[in-house]
Amino acid sequence: MQINDNFEKLPESYLFSTVGRKLREYKEAHPGVDVIRMDIGDVTLPIPQAALDAMHRAVDDMADKSTFHGYGPEQGYAFLREAVAANDYHARGVNISADDIFISDGAKSDLGNLGDIYSHDSIVAVCDPGYPVYVDSNVLDGRGGELVNGRWSRFVYMDCNEANAFKPVPPAQHADVIFLCSPANPTGVAFSRDELKAWVEYALANKAVIIYDSAYCAYITSDDVPHSIYEIEGAQKCAIEVRSFSKTAGFTGLRCGYTVVPASLCGYDAEGREVQLRKLWLRRQTTKFNGASYIIQRGAEALYSEQGKREVACNVDYYLNNARTIREAMLGAGFTVFGGENSPYIWVKSPNGESSWDLFDKCLSEVHISCTPGVGFGDNGEGYIRFTGFNTSENTAEAMRRFMNFFKK
Ligand code: PLP
Repeated sequence: MQINDNFEKLPESYLFSTVGRKLREYKEAHPGVDVIRMDIGDVTLPIPQAALDAMHRAVDDMADKSTFHGYGPEQGYAFLREAVAANDYHARGVNISADDIFISDGAKSDLGNLGDIYSHDSIVAVCDPGYPVYVDSNVLDGRGGELVNGRWSRFVYMDCNEANAFKPVPPAQHADVIFLCSPANPTGVAFSRDELKAWVEYALANKAVIIYDSAYCAYITSDDVPHSIYEIEGAQKCAIEVRSFSKTAGFTGLRCGYTVVPASLCGYDAEGREVQLRKLWLRRQTTKFNGASYIIQRGAEALYSEQGKREVACNVDYYLNNARTIREAMLGAGFTVFGGENSPYIWVKSPNGESSWDLFDKCLSEVHISCTPGVGFGDNGEGYIRFTGFNTSENTAEAMRRFMNFFKK
């Protein structure tokens, strides 16, 4: 068998392994020093009690012949799809049907797997900096072309930088598939209603599809930031929305998310005829996926109970409070800061033009806190570092006290 040689084209990702190695080496050389992890990309609070109780009951269901569940529907159980439609969409005035919702084992799988339903010749537009899955999964599918000076020749890169406040505007060139993330990882910024409207107009004019990653929508606090792209008129004709219970309810280890493919969303075949994308995605899922676990889906359903909603809001508030602490400390120390208001991520500019890795090293060796170098998310991330609100509030406060003491003097 000959391998898919796109794997050989794709460079290794050294970001998180290098952060891990540097941390390890520093701790070995300085065993008495307590380094506070502000680079954590994973949640740290336990699963909400409502979901735990529901999962315990679901385990018991599996013990009884009359309530046992074997293979479930590939699209997800109706009880969860209906809860999602009612709470995440209808409650916000958005008319998404339970039939448009596909439950999955998380957003990452769906973001990569969606590549099965669009042509290998599609022109893909990605943000720089951005969540690496969009680039890497499309390179593996053969849509990248050649890597020239760190950029793939067939992609349209949407530069996000200080000048556009890390929020890209639609490109001058044509793209077929556009990856947008709001609130964004790694920059923490989120599109306003008007900004998102411009993207929907671009997609409709270009007969393109936006793959809208809103894994962090639970963190939105500003009134003018839409929770769903479908709050924008016309979006049901040009957007697929991908969501996750990971950062909302601590499901990073349980694995559950969903993707919305509205019935009215179409692509085109080689003859230019419209083809319903929901039909293709259903076919893709029934061919390659056997559904998320019944137990986990019962847990996710319980997040929409009154108790579940209260507990989720409490966890999100906890991380948002940490993000606010970080943002205020950074601003207080005179740094240029993005994010941290509708997001657990805070994106910070080097004060004296240091590179991302130099600032990482300084934070580690002199302030004893770790962060993520922004350059690992794309060229435009050079000179930035990312902090997250996922540590404990006590550690976050202590880290910021250290940071202020060091950088204010
Ligand atoms: N999308 C973004 C922007 C993320 O940051 C992450 C996880 O960090 C994901 C998707 C993946 O989420 P999941 O855990 O549902 O696969």
